[in-house]
Amino acid sequence: NLVMHFPITKGVLFQKKVGAVQAVDNISFDIYRGETLGLVGESGCGKSTAGRAILQLYKPTSGQVIFEGRDLTKLPPEEMRRMRRHLQIIFQDPYASLNPRMTVENIIGEPLLVHGIVKDKKELREQVQELLQLVGLNPYFANRYPHEFSGGQRQRIGIARALALRPSFIVADEPVSALDVSIQAQIVNLMEDLQDKFKLTYLFIAHDLSVVRHISDRVAVMYLGKIVEIADRDSLYKDPLHPYTKALLSAVPIPDPKVEKKRERIILTGDVPSPINPPSGCRFHTRCPFVMDICREKEPPLTDQGGGHSVACWLYPLKEEPQQKQP
Ligand code: SF4
Ligand code: MG
Repeated sequence: NLVMHFPITKGVLFQKKVGAVQAVDNISFDIYRGETLGLVGESGCGKSTAGRAILQLYKPTSGQVIFEGRDLTKLPPEEMRRMRRHLQIIFQDPYASLNPRMTVENIIGEPLLVHGIVKDKKELREQVQELLQLVGLNPYFANRYPHEFSGGQRQRIGIARALALRPSFIVADEPVSALDVSIQAQIVNLMEDLQDKFKLTYLFIAHDLSVVRHISDRVAVMYLGKIVEIADRDSLYKDPLHPYTKALLSAVPIPDPKVEKKRERIILTGDVPSPINPPSGCRFHTRCPFVMDICREKEPPLTDQGGGHSVACWLYPLKEEPQQKQP
């Protein structure tokens, strides 16, 4: 039940809360060890905010984030600091996320120093060189500055920095969106290799459904701060249930039309409504071609339709609780 609302205030001396941006509104899902969960949706749907709230880079308004049995939202700061080793992030923009005045060695080595992993300069250099090799960069690049690298190389540096502390869980926030298409595949392949090698778990955030299809085991779709559908990759792409997911997929070419049935085409009209005053009931009702009366009044709960394929939409039955067997 993770909630992340950003208050909107008015007044200078006496700030009065006048509303809230409901960026993430009561979302619940699991991420299993070793898997990649893709998180997709249009920009502004709350996916990056969700990723940051999970990592406690934003303090969630309410809800829990359970990591290996412990609620991160309740950890004292010192314990959370130690926990950070296991939870890392790769940012979207390799141009903006690397300090231009720091050498690659300092950028990648900083977390190692902060967490006291290395004891001297020599050890730092060795570890940085090893990390550079891991991400496919020449270890002798350690003395160079970010501007001396291409976009793809910079993202490799960002990945090396995220890996420095040997984390187990990484939020990748649109890690390839800023890169040329020709480079995107290389970075995605690198991330997959590293996942195998270090048994990493990824939350892979993206708006590009083709990239997500390639890398994810399961996929969650977000709309206006809500999760509207979650399923394993194949069932989401072959048999999308939510009208919003269908609309998103309408825009993506089908890899093999012989194997995959032709999708119903849904063209979305109108803009995404504001997360300050989201629509009542189902938040998608202002754009949904199948809207019914109930959609405007009641929010549809995320309901498992079988095999872990869940959807939040009144077009689908709410599964009844399994009947208790009489003894
Ligand atoms: Fe459309 Fe209603 Fe389903 Fe929302 S609940 S997606 S408005 S049919
Ligand atoms: Mg984003």
